[in-house]
Amino acid sequence: MQIRYATNLSAEQYVQQQAWHAATLKHCPLHPQSGCGFCKNGSYSRKFPDGTKVARWYCADGHMSFSLLPDCLASRLSGSLIEVEDVLTEVEHSPSQEAAADKIRIDILLPGVLRWMRRRVFLVKASLSMLIELFPGLLAGCKPNILSFRSVLDVEYVLPELRILADPYLYILPPPLGFGPRPRTKKLKKNHFQHKTGTDPPS
Ligand SMILES: [Zn+2]
Repeated sequence: MQIRYATNLSAEQYVQQQAWHAATLKHCPLHPQSGCGFCKNGSYSRKFPDGTKVARWYCADGHMSFSLLPDCLASRLSGSLIEVEDVLTEVEHSPSQEAAADKIRIDILLPGVLRWMRRRVFLVKASLSMLIELFPGLLAGCKPNILSFRSVLDVEYVLPELRILADPYLYILPPPLGFGPRPRTKKLKKNHFQHKTGTDPPS
């Protein structure tokens, strides 16, 4: 389970200061009364930014580990929230996704970049749509895109701001902003529908 590590460090500062050493989780989130064998369980590494680690704890009774993800980092995607937001901004400023893809990544072929990019756009837009419903007053008139959120919230980067603002809802918001489940894609829904209405396969 991921838990928010509230910090205003950038991803670079987080690595430079090895700030995962300063992360603390005093009580087990499952058993606040303790006595469940809750203990620090080292840290795990992330590839980007190079040298990133995330502090981890473990509850023996609950067989569950807890990692403290700093506000600067994307959840379940590599890199920082700012890097994810830069991708969406490029897409929103470009005449087409293909044009954006040319600017965003040149290390892999176009179909790969498009998949990589669309995954980010799909996940972030799902979170933005949910947030508009969760904060109807604050986000009145907002559209589920970065530029609209930027102008309403009046900030340079919205995703790190939303990680803080949406703190009570992070467990229902999808990654890379939240710690909740990924939303189901249309393809998955179709398969689910087909499975439910189709005949059983031969055993
Ligand atoms: Zn516990």
